[in-house]
Amino acid sequence: MSTITNAIAVPSPGAPLEQTTITRRDLRPNDVLIDIAYAGICHSDIHQAREDWGTAIFPMVPGHEIAGTVAAVGSEVTKYKVGDRVGVGCMVDSCGECEYCQAGTEQFCVKGNVQTYNGVGFDGENTYGGYSQQVVVKDSFVCGIPEGIGLDVAAPLLCAGITTYSPLRQWGAGPGKKVAVVGLGGLGHMAVKIAAAMGAEVTVLSQSLKKQEDGLKLGAKDYYATSDESTFQTLAGRFDLILNTVSADLPVDSYLSLLRVGGAMVNVGAPGTPLSYNAFSLIAGNKSLAGSMIGGIAETQEMLDFCAEHGIGAEIETISADQVNEAYERVTGSDVRYRFVIDTATIGA
Ligand code: NAP
Ligand code: ZN
Repeated sequence: MSTITNAIAVPSPGAPLEQTTITRRDLRPNDVLIDIAYAGICHSDIHQAREDWGTAIFPMVPGHEIAGTVAAVGSEVTKYKVGDRVGVGCMVDSCGECEYCQAGTEQFCVKGNVQTYNGVGFDGENTYGGYSQQVVVKDSFVCGIPEGIGLDVAAPLLCAGITTYSPLRQWGAGPGKKVAVVGLGGLGHMAVKIAAAMGAEVTVLSQSLKKQEDGLKLGAKDYYATSDESTFQTLAGRFDLILNTVSADLPVDSYLSLLRVGGAMVNVGAPGTPLSYNAFSLIAGNKSLAGSMIGGIAETQEMLDFCAEHGIGAEIETISADQVNEAYERVTGSDVRYRFVIDTATIGA
């Protein structure tokens, strides 16, 4: 039986979110029905709801930071049982056969991964995300949330956690490495916690010093304001790795000047407008400018286990369904400490 569930949708590009109902598909043999407890608000939700990245599918039910419990399983599911604590991130399917899927990097599936929302499944149906009370997802795209992490603080790990964990691992954040995190928002604050837990020496580069005390508590050793020009002189040539989590354009050359010879700046921030840089900013110093997109499913599970082991969850502000529009404005204005999480029990209430 298909399920009707309460949800929060964006009816058309840039329009305010409103409550509605949607239908979830009948369980297929490999499907899991999840009762969603919490859904994080990622800046990517806002980019897509406002078509910053180009044409999107409407009505849109955003949400790719999903945490909840298993309510039912399909006939062939062995990995999960009713009552298990689970999470779903940015993808709900991929071909499973191409070299990237086989390598555990389903986000790069040659047929295109199926996004959790604003996507179209291989069955031709539009996908709707986590701002809702229930979702049906193929078992291989469901992760287990370890005991010890609350579902509310776990939800943001499914995107903000993996998106920062993956490049920090790939680019060698660890003891003896100086890592700068640019932007202390949802992704940035997870990057600080995770890089510190990996043993790196972490510096936050934020627009102002407003959140300095928080940044140091989260695990940073240093904190600088990028609005202060002297920051760029003080920190010149200092970092092995810069993780840029900023959702807007940045003066890339200024940040590249902060790298040591051979250092790398990795962009996870995804502004809708182009970033530009001078080739000499890379050439003079054998520097790299790279990008990173979420992480594969196995790596997402690895990240969740790492976070449980290190006692890491997101810093959250829990909101009800009727506060979502206000939350979008606050995220856009860099006024979030550090992730809004929707208590989905309030949808339709
Ligand atoms: P967020 O919570 O809004 O955090 C972004 C932070 O960037 C802000 O808190 C702010 O930090 C800083 N910032 C914002 N506007 C700025 C400006 N004009 N100049 C300088 N700094 C500015 O957003 P998020 O959810 O962490 O997402 C960040 C970006 O990552 C978004 O573009 C999102 O789409 C993208 N993303 C990418 C992936 C991926 O796979 N690569 C996955 C998820 C999200 P301060 O106040 O500290 O300056
Ligand atoms: Zn996200």
